[in-house]
Amino acid sequence: MEVRNCRSCGKIFNYIGGKPICPTCKNELEDTFQEVKAYIKDNPNAQIYDVAEENEVSVGQIKEWVREERLTFSPDSAVGIDCENCGTTIKTGRFCNRCKDSLAKELGGAYAKKQTPEINKEKNTSTKMRYLNKDNMRNY
Ligand SMILES: [Zn+2]
Ligand SMILES: [Zn+2]
Repeated sequence: MEVRNCRSCGKIFNYIGGKPICPTCKNELEDTFQEVKAYIKDNPNAQIYDVAEENEVSVGQIKEWVREERLTFSPDSAVGIDCENCGTTIKTGRFCNRCKDSLAKELGGAYAKKQTPEINKEKNTSTKMRYLNKDNMRNY
């Protein structure tokens, strides 16, 4: 069993995995999550900062829930988070649909793309080095 300091209240607790938060804070956070979820449902047009303020939770925490896909803002809501790739406003997850598609494609073609002329560059430097060495020898 690992003992850690709670990231939220600083108390020492038995860490069992996941977020470094003690059971008390975890429960509190879960309550807040339910409140935030209900608040968003009742106020579908609320801004993320309003949600944060009204529920006394950080914007970062709300965004984290959205990234975890636990919270979803309604499609017509002004609230969203940024796609981690292009910055487009999205409603849930980490990437917009377009980036999800292109990332999937990129993963498939990653090997073909990696062929850069690094080897040639290295050859050139070592040839130059050899010349330099020769010159040095002559000067000696
Ligand atoms: Zn705590
Ligand atoms: Zn994107």
